[in-house]
Amino acid sequence: MIEDKYNLGFFPTPLQKLDKISKLFSGYTIYIKRDDHTGLASGGNKTRKLEYLIKKAITQGCDTIITAGAQQSNHCRQTAAACAIAGLQCHLLLGGKKPEVYEGNLLLSSILGANIHFTGDNRKGEDIPALKKDLEEKNNTCFVIPYGGSNITGALGFVNAVKEVKEQLVEQNVKIDYIFFASSSGGMQAGLILGKELYSLNSELVPISIDKDETNGQSLEKVVFDIVKEGASILKIKKDFKLSDIHLNRNYDKDGYGVVTQNEINAMNQLARKEGILLDPVYTARAFYGMLDCLQNQKIPVNSNVLFWHTGGLPAIFKHANQWK
Ligand SMILES: *Cc1c(COP(=O)(O)O)cnc(C)c1O
Repeated sequence: MIEDKYNLGFFPTPLQKLDKISKLFSGYTIYIKRDDHTGLASGGNKTRKLEYLIKKAITQGCDTIITAGAQQSNHCRQTAAACAIAGLQCHLLLGGKKPEVYEGNLLLSSILGANIHFTGDNRKGEDIPALKKDLEEKNNTCFVIPYGGSNITGALGFVNAVKEVKEQLVEQNVKIDYIFFASSSGGMQAGLILGKELYSLNSELVPISIDKDETNGQSLEKVVFDIVKEGASILKIKKDFKLSDIHLNRNYDKDGYGVVTQNEINAMNQLARKEGILLDPVYTARAFYGMLDCLQNQKIPVNSNVLFWHTGGLPAIFKHANQWK
């Protein structure tokens, strides 16, 4: 079942050591997993989920994909690219009002041929059922991808990613103690939890929460838990997961989703200027800032090897250009 995917990206993505950043945090060695280089229309972590979701849509005979997100959604941009590759119609429901000028991910989604619908205050896919009904009346066969591509099908991409990382760690003879990453709609986190169990990965996951709001009335912990429960049964994982097994570092999400503060800007400038690697302002900059704060203040044991999972998002930088002066 894990093999059942539609190839959309370039895998394995590189796993590298960050020599110069590591020197700034004595007692820690920092590695990075480059899912900003998955290759699908400027890359990102959603490519892994879409390989499974698109496969399922095609298997079910669907000709139209519907999904939702923010205007700068990386998920929506990669879904638009995946639909172009697979020859599917793509409908995106994006929160807020239609802007005068399309920028960043919104511009790319439009270039990639997506049909874009602006949904005002409903920014997490609340309007999907109504659009689906409309399209079905026009004889489209629709496949709905939930907000962020986060269901068990999408999460399988990250179950598989654990296998990929494990092989790289063996090859490079590296042991990773902690894996830091940005968690927002929960599919990546759920997939990594399942993959860690399935492939006995010996690293602790440190998901950094990005969005303090709930999704459709549910906490992120609950969303992750539900996917993990379903996945454990499908993948025949014996562990009896409890909601209390789902950990999330909520120390860095207080400013709210998409709000870019000096913390994010500093983290971006630091990685860019030391290692030549670009983070995005919404997800990876916040998670990277969180990780550096944990190292700086020794919130994890010294002499640890840590891995930062870069999940992409580059196009959103251009939406925030006015914050670099
Ligand atoms: C979507 C996204 C995430 C979070 O992944 P989820 O599976 O939604 O939790 C992190 N970083 C970037 C750049 C993303 O686009």
